[in-house]
Amino acid sequence: MIVVMKSSATDEEVAHVIKRIETVGLKGHLSQGVERTVIGVLGQTFLELRDMLEMLPGVDEVVPISKPYKLASREFQPEDTVIRIGDIAIGGEEVVVMAGPCAVESEQQLLETAKAVKAAGATILRGGAFKPSTSPYHFRGLGEQGLEFLAQVKKEAGLPIITEVMSPSEVELVASYADILQIGARNMQNFDLLEEAGKTRKPIMLKRGLSATVQEWLLAAEYILSQGNPQLMLCERGIRTFETYTRNTMDISVIPVIEKVSHLPVIADPSHGTGKWYLVTPVALAALAAGADGIMVEVHPNPDQALKDGAQSLTFDNFQQLMSQLRPIVAAVGRRLAAPSVKVRS
Ligand code: PEP
Ligand code: MN
Repeated sequence: MIVVMKSSATDEEVAHVIKRIETVGLKGHLSQGVERTVIGVLGQTFLELRDMLEMLPGVDEVVPISKPYKLASREFQPEDTVIRIGDIAIGGEEVVVMAGPCAVESEQQLLETAKAVKAAGATILRGGAFKPSTSPYHFRGLGEQGLEFLAQVKKEAGLPIITEVMSPSEVELVASYADILQIGARNMQNFDLLEEAGKTRKPIMLKRGLSATVQEWLLAAEYILSQGNPQLMLCERGIRTFETYTRNTMDISVIPVIEKVSHLPVIADPSHGTGKWYLVTPVALAALAAGADGIMVEVHPNPDQALKDGAQSLTFDNFQQLMSQLRPIVAAVGRRLAAPSVKVRS
């Protein structure tokens, strides 16, 4: 349930409501929106609680939330979450493009890619240093060395970076390099990792699990939000279906679904969503037309030689073509492309 405060409510009245919630063993989560101040009641609520809270001074109304996820719901926060990274805003009017190799392979490979994607209009550089791998015998990333390359290239190319964190014990390390922490599909329900990431104050991108329902995905988001980190975006990266022609089935419909039920921004990843480079552009365009707040795309200087996900990686030329094709789509849905950042906080 949520407690909506009157616009005239004082700070003392807000604090009093939170205290009252705590005295019955629950947690009050304050959200100070532009339009209204709302307190989310987290935990097992009970029937009499509604009346008990409704009579407190400063309270406008108490509204039960029907969904099992609370903080992630539109009912709790009607206005869109907008995440700021330097001068880039994710979830507002602008559309962001995150691009780069699946895995960081060398400083040279990363720098070359960063320069090319930035010149084509990308806003954020992606690259995995810690890579989840279905087979233990495949490339699993350069680890900390990869983070060092990301930090170096971030400075040289002037692009903020997003990179994956795979284990709770590595959250602090990865957060000291990354501008956005990526939690991968295979870890969507690694609850210890979600909570540890939720304790940081870094923006987080939570990818949808391979077979996750919308509800499971948003409950995973709730683990992060309930730790006090509101800078969360979701990423649709395709789900597993009976179809084997494509690597996954990109669920375009989930983009407007999330927009309806949640205030969190949604990014589309057509690279993992399709697994085939020639499907990346059409599916990216479809996702943007459906309202995605951005796309994440894998780009490699030489996809044939890529240590990971070469088949779904775009060449520099193909990425440039994607960028020129997406501009009219972005404009058609009344949005604009975020400009590549020049100032980057170190
Ligand atoms: C990736 O972004 O490289 C990745 C491993 O993605 P996912 O977790 O969606 O498979
Ligand atoms: Mn990949």
